[in-house]
Amino acid sequence: MANMQKKILVVGGGIGGLTTALACGARGLPVQLIEKKPVFSEVGAGIQLSPNVVRLLEGWGLSSGLDAVACFPSLLQVRSAQSGAVLGQLALGARAVQRYGARYATIARADLHALLLGAVQSQGSTQLLLDNALQFISQDANAVQVTTADGHQRRAHVVIGADGLWSHVRDFVRTDAQPRFSGHLAYRAMVPQAALPQGLRSDVITAWLGPRFHAVHYPVHGGEWLNVVVIVQGAAPEDMHQWDHDANADDLRAHLDGAASALQDLVAAIKAWRLWPLNGLPHVRSAKELAFGRIALMGDAAHPMLPYLAQGAGMAIEDAAALADVLSTPVLGDVAALERYAQTRWRRNARVQARAQRNGEIFHATGVQRWGRDAAMQLLGQRLLDVPWLYGGG
Ligand SMILES: Cc1cc2nc3c(=O)[nH]c(=O)nc-3n(C[C@H](O)[C@H](O)[C@H](O)COP(=O)(O)OP(=O)(O)OC[C@H]3O[C@@H](n4cnc5c(N)ncnc54)[C@H](O)[C@@H]3O)c2cc1C
Repeated sequence: MANMQKKILVVGGGIGGLTTALACGARGLPVQLIEKKPVFSEVGAGIQLSPNVVRLLEGWGLSSGLDAVACFPSLLQVRSAQSGAVLGQLALGARAVQRYGARYATIARADLHALLLGAVQSQGSTQLLLDNALQFISQDANAVQVTTADGHQRRAHVVIGADGLWSHVRDFVRTDAQPRFSGHLAYRAMVPQAALPQGLRSDVITAWLGPRFHAVHYPVHGGEWLNVVVIVQGAAPEDMHQWDHDANADDLRAHLDGAASALQDLVAAIKAWRLWPLNGLPHVRSAKELAFGRIALMGDAAHPMLPYLAQGAGMAIEDAAALADVLSTPVLGDVAALERYAQTRWRRNARVQARAQRNGEIFHATGVQRWGRDAAMQLLGQRLLDVPWLYGGG
């Protein structure tokens, strides 16, 4: 089937879905994208984009867009959340470019989403359909039929499920994948740096490792804002589908009892926190979990991961590039193309999921393990923090 006749329908207009549309558009493939929300929106929080991801975004022409809104910190530093001591450092900045051929960026989710949306709109090859919630999907040998909540039916040759952690597309292709609460809660805040005392402002990425909690902060929105996330262990809120809850700052401060004063001061200086329960699925075990005939899953719909390697959006963006590659390969039929996508992506996604989980255990270590972690970090610093197999690309 010639590319111009291939009908690709993407479900979900988050970072994964928009990037799929952008990557397909860059290969001359038109896309229909349905998004359940009536307007495109992203909550106020930050995202780190490592060189493997920035390289792809720059390849789609987003370099100057990133320059305008992202930050490119020179350093990642790891500090003990108890003593405040610097345990290890990884130089980013020019070193990332020299070693991995692309920059290491931090960006507000809303800025990245707006950048992707603007790029998709100026490409002009994607039909964006808001207020269109997927309700039902079926497929036969020739096509997929998609029904939205308003009863409208659409046919496509290929459907990409980019509808996030609670994916409804996934409900039709896998019955063995219900997200479970991880036991971890993320308190998130974005604060204007100008509103913070001088000593609490920062232009680098800092990770604080404690017993049973950790915190990460970095600049976003051209450096004007500081994104702060503190991850603690605790009980799940009642409504697990709603990931953005009002958070009680007193509860957060109680988790940080005994923490270094610089971290306590930062947390005390921020009044408004949002609380996100972190949920996950078992790690991907085979290509069969990503492709089902003419339907494929990508991003959080396929492989949600704990944020401790800062790669959830990154892996969605890599998935998008792989999908555009296979869908634009002329000799591949639709089903074979999605199978190849799944074969290409599943191992790397599984490896990142596993590494992220392991990082969580290390970041929250207690007792003798915490002592060993801090000692190893002080001895090996950069070697432990650098991840060449990841930052070098898939
Ligand atoms: C605390 C925290 C920190 C993080 N930090 C980082 C980081 O530093 N770096 C990084 O790379 N990642 C990070 N992540 C992960 C990242 O945010 C996610 O992996 C990424 O946003 C997933 O994108 P997605 O497009 O797959 O899903 P989503 O962003 O969930 O988008 C899904 C879209 O589908 C739509 N949708 C849902 N159901 C339907 C339906 N039935 N019909 C139509 N549309 C539908 C939704 O409205 C939404 O727009 C972090 C996550 C958390 C929680």
